[in-house]
Amino acid sequence: MNFRLSPAVQQLLPSATIAAAAKAKALKASGVKVYDFTLGEPDFNTPAHIRAAAVAAMDAGHTHYTPSGGIPELKKAICQAYERDYGLKFEAHQIVVSNGAKHAIHNVIAALCGPGDEVIIPTPYWVSYSELVKLTGATPVLVPTTPESGYVFSPEQFERAITPRTRLLMLNSPSNPTGAVYPVAALEALAQVAVKHQIPVLSDEIYEKLIYDGAEFRSFASFGEEVRKLTIIVSGVSKAYAMTGWRIGWSIAPAPLTKVIDDLQSQQTSNPCSVSQHAAIAGLTGPQDSVTAMHAEFVKRRAFVLDRFRQIPGVQFVEPGGAFYIFFNVAQYFNKPLQGGKVVQNSTEFCTALLETAHVALVTGDAFGAPSYVRLSFATNIETLSAGIDRLEQFLNPA
Ligand code: PMP
Ligand code: GLU
Repeated sequence: MNFRLSPAVQQLLPSATIAAAAKAKALKASGVKVYDFTLGEPDFNTPAHIRAAAVAAMDAGHTHYTPSGGIPELKKAICQAYERDYGLKFEAHQIVVSNGAKHAIHNVIAALCGPGDEVIIPTPYWVSYSELVKLTGATPVLVPTTPESGYVFSPEQFERAITPRTRLLMLNSPSNPTGAVYPVAALEALAQVAVKHQIPVLSDEIYEKLIYDGAEFRSFASFGEEVRKLTIIVSGVSKAYAMTGWRIGWSIAPAPLTKVIDDLQSQQTSNPCSVSQHAAIAGLTGPQDSVTAMHAEFVKRRAFVLDRFRQIPGVQFVEPGGAFYIFFNVAQYFNKPLQGGKVVQNSTEFCTALLETAHVALVTGDAFGAPSYVRLSFATNIETLSAGIDRLEQFLNPA
């Protein structure tokens, strides 16, 4: 290449989830029937009243630049939704609306971290966390959690990982990829450590509405004033309202940090999409029955997937309490013949062989800081899940 790349991007990896989905799509485009369980993206169409609000917004001329951090009506709708759903009171000047939760995460990290800083990330983690931290020149400090603890990061682990360079803890409950939902007491214990050492916490709550089996969602900001001063909530409409393509997410932080994030965003991207902001208002303030209906469908899909996976020998997993992934260990299938005589040594090879041989697309655990694991997204219909899991079983245990 004739270009000298910046140090920031020289080591940058592409998003592994998006790369895996692109690989599956390329195979599909060549005419092969692919069972694609890569992306964490609800397969439902965005509810009709939300789409209608977008059309109405365009017709009303809301097709111009907006304030950089989002329109006041959407910020108000976000505040109302947190008060309605969780009894949490926020103010508009604490919110920046961004182009998806991913953008909000990048903004927060860029606002708080730079070369020499450390960011604590419990593993398994969502693929983009470590790359976005590295992009700022900061160092991700990866701390493994275990299946035995339900993939819950403990206050002792948090305390041990803190150094004078620590700038941020990144938490994600419900978790992508493990589905772990942190018990309230576990969150509260982490909050106490954060307050004791004055460490800011980015709490990625994007799967807040996707909780199963009576598990309770609690926002990290709900543990009192001292915790709130250190908490940055990130969430958005992508998952709960099936609005991935609309690109609307937000951060909620103490006002001075929010101002910095807003300034950053005003230089980066001017504002999030005007029409999508109006659609998001309809999602947040309109009838919530579509959220309930989609949740009910995910409950069925989860039950189906768990039932099938319990019958696959040698595959280990912890039942996901939230989100729409099953994250399972396939180490028992390394170094032995699989379908078509394929032999694999790690989970990346496993995913490649599975796609080539059985046309089933998953994401490698390597991308989530969890070698030996793979992730299946069950954000798709039961018929496809059933056929795909049949093929996975054949791949693992060829007759
Ligand atoms: N956080 C987590 C844990 C995710 O899985 C995702 C993927 N959607 C995001 C953030 C980003 O969401 P968005 O589509 O709103 O950018
Ligand atoms: N978050 C989803 C996933 O993990 C969508 C892809 C992405 O945003 O990286 O699959």
